[in-house]
Amino acid sequence: MKPDLLAEIVRQAGVSDPRLLAAIRATPRDLFVPPRYAERAPFDEPIPIGHGQPTSQPSLIAQMIDALRLTEEATVLEIGTGYGYQTALLARLARRVYSVERHPDLAAHARANLAAAGLTGVEVVVGDGTAGLPRYAPFDAVVVSAAAPGVPAPLAEQLAEDGRLVMPIQTETGDMVTQFTRRHGHLLRERVLLPAYFVPLIGRYTPESPPRDLNG
Ligand code: SAH
Repeated sequence: MKPDLLAEIVRQAGVSDPRLLAAIRATPRDLFVPPRYAERAPFDEPIPIGHGQPTSQPSLIAQMIDALRLTEEATVLEIGTGYGYQTALLARLARRVYSVERHPDLAAHARANLAAAGLTGVEVVVGDGTAGLPRYAPFDAVVVSAAAPGVPAPLAEQLAEDGRLVMPIQTETGDMVTQFTRRHGHLLRERVLLPAYFVPLIGRYTPESPPRDLNG
């Protein structure tokens, strides 16, 4: 019942992909938030998950996933697992999902939550996601759930040709959730999906400012 309402909210936000809407209906969000916030799970709002981190509102997560244009055969890299709600949706849509989280206890919660939801085909790795996961590259899609002034170079390098990358990019006016595509070995900025608030991406390869060719 409640995931159905969330799916309707997501549809109203402009997401029409039936596979994605079905994934939302099939994924009880209350399994992916701390138990004390379970009653807030049906609402389209961020929920605290510890360490000062939130799980994003489902309509935002859905718009980011929608922009990845995943096929059932896709291999996906996610940076910032949190409690695993977005990971769960990705796991329902793609063949294989690798997700990197820097906080070990959040990763442990995510693994338990994904198992409780019966999801397979997912590997949650503890570490610095700005380095990507070179041993599993290339990825058909990369989604980053924390903001930085630009795309960490390893993530662009590990994206497959014609693959899509979605990430919030910090600007003077706020975080702009941006969709990139890799063409002829270069990362092209294609469009801004929407403005949103994100926690910062903290890692070794976080650029201090956007590369020149992503400014235009
Ligand atoms: N996508 C999830 C969680 C978003 S919160 C959801 O919406 O449900 C962002 C997460 O990114 C936090 O859990 C934070 O710890 C993580 N994070 C920030 N920088 C990171 C990095 N360099 N590598 C891996 N995870 C990182």
